[in-house]
This record gives sequence, C-alpha cells and structure tokens, in this order.
Amino acid sequence: MKFSITSGHGDAQLRRPLLMLWLATAVLLALAWWHVLALVSDSRTKELASAERDLANLTRVSQEHADRTFRSADQVIRFIQARYLEIGDRLDLAALSAQGVIDTEIFNQVGVIDAQGIYVLSNLPIKGKLDLSDREHFKVHVTADSGELFVSKPVLGRASGKWSVQLTRRINRANGDFAGVVVVSIDPGYFTRFYNELQLGSKGVMALYGLDGVARARKIGSKEEFGTEATNSQMLTRIAQGQLTATYSNASVVDGIERLYHYRKLPHYRLAVLNGLDLQYLLVNHQRAAQALWLQAAILSLLLLALATVLTRYLQRINQNLLARQAAQRLIEERNEQLTAIFSMSPDAFVSFDTTHRITYVSPTFLPMMARANIQFEGMSEQDFSAWLLQHCEPGSSFAGIAAMRAQMAQEQSERPTLIEIANPGKRILQLSLRTSESSAVSQLLHFREVTRETEIDHMKSEFLSTAAHELRTPMASISGFTEVLMTQQLTPEETSEFLNIIHSRAQLMSNILNELLDLARIEARRGKDFQYARLDLAELVKQSVASFIPPVDRGLPELQLPAQALWVMADPQKLQQAILNVLSNAYKYSAAGQAVKLKLALEPQAEGLTRVCLHVTDEGIGMTPAQVERVFERFYRADTSGKVPGTGLGMSIVKEIISLHGGSVAIQSEFGRGTCVSFYLPAIDKDEAP
Ligand code: ATP
Ligand code: MG
Repeated sequence: MKFSITSGHGDAQLRRPLLMLWLATAVLLALAWWHVLALVSDSRTKELASAERDLANLTRVSQEHADRTFRSADQVIRFIQARYLEIGDRLDLAALSAQGVIDTEIFNQVGVIDAQGIYVLSNLPIKGKLDLSDREHFKVHVTADSGELFVSKPVLGRASGKWSVQLTRRINRANGDFAGVVVVSIDPGYFTRFYNELQLGSKGVMALYGLDGVARARKIGSKEEFGTEATNSQMLTRIAQGQLTATYSNASVVDGIERLYHYRKLPHYRLAVLNGLDLQYLLVNHQRAAQALWLQAAILSLLLLALATVLTRYLQRINQNLLARQAAQRLIEERNEQLTAIFSMSPDAFVSFDTTHRITYVSPTFLPMMARANIQFEGMSEQDFSAWLLQHCEPGSSFAGIAAMRAQMAQEQSERPTLIEIANPGKRILQLSLRTSESSAVSQLLHFREVTRETEIDHMKSEFLSTAAHELRTPMASISGFTEVLMTQQLTPEETSEFLNIIHSRAQLMSNILNELLDLARIEARRGKDFQYARLDLAELVKQSVASFIPPVDRGLPELQLPAQALWVMADPQKLQQAILNVLSNAYKYSAAGQAVKLKLALEPQAEGLTRVCLHVTDEGIGMTPAQVERVFERFYRADTSGKVPGTGLGMSIVKEIISLHGGSVAIQSEFGRGTCVSFYLPAIDKDEAP
C-alpha cells in the first residue's frame, strides 16, 4: 500500500525542455533564413556579374562602331579638305556622293563653308545663300587651329533640315590662313539605329556622349533623344580622373532610374559610349528566383513554428496529465498515511482481503496484538490465514475459520462478532467481526479487538457482587439469628445484653461495609473529579492525622519521624488523611500491645531531577506472607482469617485508589510474624508551583 511519487514541480520541470525546443526552432529558423539570404545574394551577384560581362562586350562593340564611324567621317573630311585646297569651288561633292566616295547612308550632308561662313559646297543642292558663320561648328575653327575634328551637339541642320551632329575640320591655306571648314553631318539616329539591334529592355540606355556632357545620340528603350545633358554624371567625373572605361551602378542624373552602367571613352575623340541596364529589368529573373526562395523560407518558417507550437501544446498536455497524476498520487499517499496513522493509533487491528480472498493489507497493530513479529501476511489465502489463527487459539476453541464465519453471517443475517481465546504468551480474548464489501479492491475486512480486560472486568464484577453479597449475608445471618432468639426465648438479662451487643457489632460491620463500598464506588465513578486538590505540606497533614487518631485503649501514640522542612504535595487533604488513617489503623489492628508503630516522612530524589515524598508506616505485628501481600488490594480480601480482628477487607483498596488518583503509588513490605511496612509515594512540588 505504498506509492512512490516522482518529485518535482511541473512548471519548472517543463521550462527547460520548452526553452530547448524554442531555442532549437529559433536556430533552425535563423539557419533557414541565413541560407536563403546567402542564396539570394549569390544569385544577385551572379546575375550582376553576367550582366556586367554582357554590358562590357556591348560597350566595346558600341565604341568600335562609333570610333569607326567617326574615323570614316574624318577620312571623308580630310579628303574633301585636300581636294578643296587643290581645286576650290570646282570640287563636285554631288558627284563624289554618286561615285560612292561619300557614304550618304551614314552622312546626312557633306559640304564646305568658306572663310566668311557661307555654305559654298554641298553634295546636296543648296537653296540660296546659306550663312553659317554663327554656328558653333564653324566658329570654333575661325580663331585658332586645334588640328582636331570638332563634333557638335546635335543641331537642326540648316542645309539638310535634319537633326545632325556636325563634324568639322578647319581648312588651312598653304600660308596657314583660314580658308573655311569642311562639314559632315551625321544623322545621330545612325548610332541609335545600330542600337536597335541590341536589346537592353524598356529602360536600358545606350548613348554617345561628348565629354562636354551633352549626348550626341541617346536611346532609352525604343525612344531616341538628342542633346540630353548629363553634365554631372559619374562617367564624366571618372573620365576626368583618367578612368577610360569603368562599370558602376547608380541612379541616372537624367531620369533617376537605377542602372548598371558601363562606358568607354573613344580613343581619338572627346567622346564616350555609355550603356546602361535598368537594374530592375536586369534582376527580374533573380528577383523571381529570390521571391520563390523567400516564399520557401516563409513556408518553412511557418511549418517550423507550427511544429514547435504543436510540440509545446503536446508537452504541456503531457505535463498537465503528469501533474494531475502526481496530485492524485499525493492524495492517495496522504489518504494512505491517514489510514496508516488511524490504523496504527487504533487499538484494534484490521486485515483486508481482495476479491480472490487473499490478504492485501494487515494493519500494523495486528502482530503486536497477536504478540508475534515478522510474519508476511500479504498474499496469504483466507484458508491459510484461518489455519494460522486456529494454531494460536486455545485448544478446543470454537473458531472454525473465516469462511464459516461468513457462512454463519449469511445464515443469521447479522454481524455478530466471534470471540476467540489466544494462547501463549499469555491468554488473551479477541473479538473478531467480519465485514463484507462491495468495493472492487476489498472483498472483506476482518476486525480484531482485544477484549481480555473487558471480559475480565465483567468476570470481576460478578465475582465482586457475589463476594459483597456473601460478606453482607454473614453479619445479616447473625443479626437475624440472634434477633429471633431474643424474640422467641426467655433469656437472662446478661444473655439479652450479650446478644444485643453481638447484634449491634454485626450491624456496625454491615454499616462499615456499606460505607466503604459507597466510598469506593464514589471514588471509582468520579475518578478523582470531586477531589479538592490544594498545595499542602504533607508533614503538617501527617501531624493533624495523628492528632485526630485515637489509638486502642492499651496502646500509645505512633512514633513520628518528620523532617525539619515542609514537604509540598498537591493533594485533597481529607482523602489523603483518610488513606493515612486506614493504614495507621491497620498497623494497630494487626499488632499487639507493646509493639511499636512508627511513621516516617522523607524526601527521596528520583531520576531527571524529580523528587517524591515518601510516607512509611511500620509496625511490628503479625506480618503477611508474600502471597498474602500480593492480594492485599483485592476487595474483601482479608489475610487474617482468625476472626479476632474486625474488618471488611476494603480499607487497602480505598487507600490504593486514593493514592493512585494523586499520581502516587503504594508499596508493601512485610514479613510473616515480624511486621509490615506500608509506603506511600507522592510527587513532590515546589512551594510556588502552580496547581
Ligand atoms: P477494613 O476494611 O476495616 O480496613 P481490613 O483491615 O481487614 O478491613 P484492609 O485494610 O483492606 O482490610 O486489609 C486487608 C487485609 O490485609 C487485612 O485483613 C489484613 O489481613 C492484611 N493487613 C493489612 N494491613 C496489615 C498489617 N499492617 N499487618 C498485617 N496484615 C495486614
Ligand atoms: Mg484495614
């Protein structure tokens, strides 16, 4: 019936695994996101690297294309420059175009402006006199000879009527004088048309910039632009710093779009080609892949969180169940302890049986009751237990086993207990009751109660009653006998007086017996509750008792031996005096004249600092045998059966009751024919001790 409980507090127990679970979840989440981040970043890097490569190749091609275009234009210019110096106005540019020397597919118009700025020669017909002296591409050559090809910003050609980039070179006479300017107009669309072949997306940019920051040709998506200014662009800054080619990404100074750029400066001209890829367009694949990865990571995270939550709930539920079980076990254990405490405190013993009539529990009081030790009863069958019990019964016991008890119970429909007498060590009487149960674990309970004392008391009561009746009948018989004689016979006055004396003494004896019986009954019934306890000096009480005692006529007063100091006890003075006088009267009754009676009072130290007060009453009378001493306290017992000394045999019983109700004890030392010493022992108290 013992349960083991795993100790621990539920919440604290769960905190650690839950912490570990969520820590692991957090680590997994961090790993997943870190991995996805790495993948995304890697994909972006790869995408950008490949775009950079493509952009660089593209720019290289654009550069080559532009360079070749300008070189061929310059070649035409140099040719016309030389011819014009040779033949002047006779130079037929239209014929040269027709011959294919001038490529009209690339060049809008080819012509010569004279020193005054008048457009004098052209491969196209000139309508009237065209003055171009205010044009920048003319003016740059008038004052000085840079020896360089001038590439103008896109302007609307006055001769061609088209948007053109004007390429001009100064014509010098042999003496170095300014003779005019050769001009070749290039359609800026020629560059952008070339770009049409290349796909850079709707926001991709391809441009040919002058180092003055003005675009000679520019195309965004399918839109062509001329003359766009990008003076603060990173490209110009970088070229100024000597970086002839570079890749970078930033927001465009023109339209603010974030692009990856690559530029190359043309080696021979103050021009550069620039290509840019819209980063959004460029990274569209990467972004799609990244989105898929983010989604996967998000789904994984949700799954992990859901899993951790489910696990947490599961653990909590398990823990709750565990806690409930622990609480239930604790409750069972407490009940168990209570029952064990009840069983061990109860003077009764219990044996319970399971449904197969095997013993499941034996209360701890059972073995002491049977005066046996170390017997394992659990699991023993009902028959074996009945046989064991029978072995310990007095021979000839009426006990027929538990099964028989049960059968008898069923037959009589009552729960009448059975009495059994247990033999050695010491005879004891046990009362056995059997209770059957409907419970699933206990089929029946056997209840043992020791009733030895009750049985003895019953026995003593009836014995006492018959003794008392006998003791009263004897004097009664004398009284009625002598009264009858007195009534029926004529007696002498002496005889009458003698008979009346006898009747009187018998009546006195009966009255004594009745008084003492009443005294005893009162003391027993009240168990000292009507005693008037007070703190008193026993020496003083002994003196008073002796003073009130009238010794027989021929005897002297007892010899007193009292201590100098007071001896304090808690006592009812009247009752204690009654006890002292009873013992004192015995000492005189059972000794002869001339034999001394002594009273000695003393303080006796005891163990643990306690002291007791002793009163010894000694006589030198008839004394008693040890067997007689043993019975002195029995009611109506009289050792001296000579009949010479009157008495009831109740005095010492009263003495014993009174002294024991005072928490004391009585001892008798006696030697037959030599005398007796009766001693009272009472606990001593301090004078100031509270009652
Ligand atoms: P009573 O009831 O009148 O006192 P009792 O003296 O006979 O009658 P107890 O005082 O109870 O009865 O004593 C019981 C018996 O013990 C006495 O009858 C006597 O035989 C014996 N006894 C008691 N005291 C002494 C004693 N001091 N010396 C010898 N025998 C004694
Ligand atoms: Mg007496």
